[in-house]
Amino acid sequence: MKKFTLLFSVAALLCTQVKAQDSLTIRKMYDEALVNGQCYENLHYLCKNIGQRLSGSANAQKAVDWSKKLMDGYGFDKVYLQEVMVPHWVRGAKEEAAIIDGKTRIPVPIVALGMSIATPKAGITANVIEVKSIKELEGLGESVVKGKIVFFNRAFDPRFIETGAAYGNAGDQRFMGPAVAAKLGAAGVIVRSLTEIIDDYPHTGATLAAPGSKMIPAAAISTKAANKLSAMLKLRKFPAAKFYFKQNCELLPDVKSYNVIGEITGSENPNKFITVGGHLDSWDLAEGAHDDGTGVMQSVEVLRIFKTVGYKPKNSVRAVLFMNEENGHKGGTKYAELAAQNKEQHIAAIETDEGGFTPRGFSFADVSKDFIKKVNDNFKSILEPYDVDKLTIGGAGTDIEPMKETVPGVVLIGFRPDSQRYFDLHHTAKDVFENVNKRELELGAAGMAALIYLIDQHGL
Ligand SMILES: [Zn+2]
Repeated sequence: MKKFTLLFSVAALLCTQVKAQDSLTIRKMYDEALVNGQCYENLHYLCKNIGQRLSGSANAQKAVDWSKKLMDGYGFDKVYLQEVMVPHWVRGAKEEAAIIDGKTRIPVPIVALGMSIATPKAGITANVIEVKSIKELEGLGESVVKGKIVFFNRAFDPRFIETGAAYGNAGDQRFMGPAVAAKLGAAGVIVRSLTEIIDDYPHTGATLAAPGSKMIPAAAISTKAANKLSAMLKLRKFPAAKFYFKQNCELLPDVKSYNVIGEITGSENPNKFITVGGHLDSWDLAEGAHDDGTGVMQSVEVLRIFKTVGYKPKNSVRAVLFMNEENGHKGGTKYAELAAQNKEQHIAAIETDEGGFTPRGFSFADVSKDFIKKVNDNFKSILEPYDVDKLTIGGAGTDIEPMKETVPGVVLIGFRPDSQRYFDLHHTAKDVFENVNKRELELGAAGMAALIYLIDQHGL
């Protein structure tokens, strides 16, 4: 009995020492991020000297070249490009739109949805059918929908605490709505912007073509305009208000592009990997600051922090700057394919693509309640002093998602910052560097460095 108690106390003592060592190392990483951090400056360069970087564009290539050079400069063990073919969609000349109320034309802020086709040169003018869901549209049938402009107007549900959940809840209107309307013979589609804020900034984003079926022009209008149009449709039953829009976008042939990868090679297990990444491409309306400039610059910063504080990971740690998250996910798919082809073992992959806001914690995809309890037992108290200790079951990220199929056993993790302001900016002309807070950005990078350190040391 005595011997057992003694063994138990030795184990407890060792455990306390390990935790103390972990706490000291993590403190050092935070100090480095907050005192000598470089991700804010790097983000400034990406946003102001390169700017928007839609897949296939010259700017996307500039971002590839620059971020590779940046990581080369940090002296990571490996820095390389991973070739991938990506779609090349271009917006063309600025879109225009108006509500036509008798002889009055009320201009409407509008942006084409990514991957949409152009309208005819003269634009489309037609009667409008307002619906709140795809189901409602399907219920109307072809006889009602044919030749009309379908207006999807289901707002964000404010009862969701996480705004990402509200986005997921309303998102099918943009992703799938235009394809369904096309099948029913609609002339075009306008979608209420996917945001809770009521303003005059329309939000772009990709829409999906139904395989084998024709596409119709699809665009997003601002929330203010959506409210106005809806009110007008209720007011003017006859003669009904009409809608006009014109857009000039085009899908060009695919272009060769790249994921950009930096790596610190593991001292014990060079063929076991922990990935941290975001996406290098962005929409074309602004600078892709929060979406996802913050994510890619934080990922690079994680490796820089490790190197600067002299932490040599046991497993290989990679920063991956994925290409083409926004309109095709080709970079993420390629990374997962090559991971399997090269017989890499992956312990975990963390994606940061929810904006560079105040960190709250991490969500673990497709894990059991027991698993998340163990993660909390092991890591929560160490992360608590930094307010990044909310460890839950939840989503991970679009770029790392394909790894689930190709590298069994990998744990997919999403970095979770505060979500309340993200969809005020997401995919709009407001997503600029000035809307990123330096400390919030740095705390996020440090939080990810801390979690990766813990996983590297103790596994999952
Ligand atoms: Zn994103």
